[in-house]
Amino acid sequence: MHGFRKLRLPESGEAIKVVDGRLCVPDVPIIPFIEGDGIGPDVWRAARRVIDAAVEVAYCGYRKIAWCEAFAGEKALKLYGELLPEDTLKAIDQFVVAIKGPLTTPPISGYRSLNVTLRQELDLYACVRPIKWIEGVPSPVKHPEKLDVVIFRETTEDVYAGIEWEMGSDGARRVIQFLREEFNVIIPEDSGIGIKPISERATKRLVRKAIKYALENGRKSITIVHKGNIMKFTEGAFAQWAYEVALNEFREHVVTQREIKEAFKEHIAGRLIIKDVLADNMFQQVLTRPEDYDVIVLPNLNGDYLSDACAAQVGGLGIAPGANFGDYHALFEPTHGSAPKYAGKDVANPSSMILSGAMMLQYIGWREAADLIYNALSLTIKSQKMTQDLARHIDGDVKVLRCSEFANEVICHLHHR
Ligand code: NAP
Repeated sequence: MHGFRKLRLPESGEAIKVVDGRLCVPDVPIIPFIEGDGIGPDVWRAARRVIDAAVEVAYCGYRKIAWCEAFAGEKALKLYGELLPEDTLKAIDQFVVAIKGPLTTPPISGYRSLNVTLRQELDLYACVRPIKWIEGVPSPVKHPEKLDVVIFRETTEDVYAGIEWEMGSDGARRVIQFLREEFNVIIPEDSGIGIKPISERATKRLVRKAIKYALENGRKSITIVHKGNIMKFTEGAFAQWAYEVALNEFREHVVTQREIKEAFKEHIAGRLIIKDVLADNMFQQVLTRPEDYDVIVLPNLNGDYLSDACAAQVGGLGIAPGANFGDYHALFEPTHGSAPKYAGKDVANPSSMILSGAMMLQYIGWREAADLIYNALSLTIKSQKMTQDLARHIDGDVKVLRCSEFANEVICHLHHR
C-alpha cells in the first residue's frame, strides 16, 4: 500500500475497500481528486465546497471526506514532468473511488487523450451518464422532462480505442497489403486505417453491470443500441451477446420485447424489458419518444455521440454528470471539457461537476448527502439563479451568477429540504 513519489496523503482518513464483492466505506474515506485543466480548478473548487457542506449537513460531522490531491494534465506536467504520473494511477487504484475535473488533450500528434488513457489503464470500462432534466434549465426541446435515461457506454474497445495507422505510413501499407493478399479485400492505397474490435468479454461485463444497475434501481427497460444491420460481427455481435447475458444470467428478472409480443403477456409484471434499437433510429427515438427509454447500453463510439445528444436535450454538457466504472473502481467526472476560454474567469457552470460529486456520494452509499445536493441544485435553478451558459437562453428575469456564487446559492439551499 501507498509508496507514492510526490502525492501527499491527508493526515486522517482510511481507504475504501472492496470486501466480499462490496464497497466497504469508512466514515472518513480518503478520496483522491484531480482538479483538471482550464475551468477545472474553478468548477472543482465550487463542487468541493458543495460536497463538503452536504456531507456536513447530512451527517453533522460524523462523516467527512479526507480529500487527497492527485495530479494529471498541466499541474502534473509542472510537478512531475509528465501528464499522467504513476502516483495518480496508483492512488485511484488504492483508494478505489476518485473524482476529477476536465483534462485538456494537448493538440500534439502522439498524445493519447488523458481521459482515454485513465479509462484504459484502470480498466474503467463503463462510462455511465444519468441524464435527466432539472426544472428551470433551458432546453432546446418542448418536453425535456420526458427524457430520463442512464447511458452505459463501453469505453475500452471499438474504433475509439485508437488502433489506427496514418495514410501512407508503413503500418497502413502493411495492413492494406495483408488484407489484399490474405482476404482479397481491396482498400485504396491512400487510406488511413482504423480497427474496430468488439469482444464478447467486454460487451458482457458492460451489459451485466447495466442490468444489475437497472434491477437495483427499479428501472423499467434496457435498450441495446447497435448498428448490427451493417457491422454484423462487431455491432451485431454486441447486441447478440447483450441478449445472451440478459437471458442466460438474469432469466427470471427480464423479458424481451419479442417475448412480450409473442407469449409472455401475463408474466411480465415487474420484469425488466430488454429491447434493441439501431443506432441511427435511436437518435430519432430520444427526440420523438423519449419516455420509451430508460437504461441504454452501447458500444464506445455510438455511446459517445448519444451521451452528448441526450445531454443537449436536458440543457447541455454544463449540467450532465458522469462516471467511469470498473468492477468496483469508479472515477467521477463532469461530461464537459476544459473550456479553455473560460479558464480562471469564475464564470463556468459547476453543475456537472457538482452532480458528479452527488453521483459519487450515492455510489459510496451516502445517499442522504447526495439527495441534499440534487434538491439544493434544483431549488437554485428553479429560483432563476444560474450561470451565464444557461441564463443566456432565457428571455425572462434571471439572475446571472459566477461559478463560485452559484456554489454559494446551492450551499444555502442545502438547508431547505
Ligand atoms: P468543452 O471544453 O466541453 O467546451 C466547449 C464549449 O462548451 C465551451 O466553449 C462552452 O460553450 C461550453 N461549456 C463546456 N463546459 C462548460 C461549463 N462548465 N460551463 C459553461 N460552458 C461550458 O469542449 P472542447 O472545447 O471541445 O474541449 C476543450 C478541451 O477539453 C480539449 O482539450 C478536449 O480534449 C478536452 N475534453 C476533456 C474532457 C474530459 O476531461 N472528460 C471531455 C471533453 C473534452 P460556449 O463557448 O458556447 O460558451
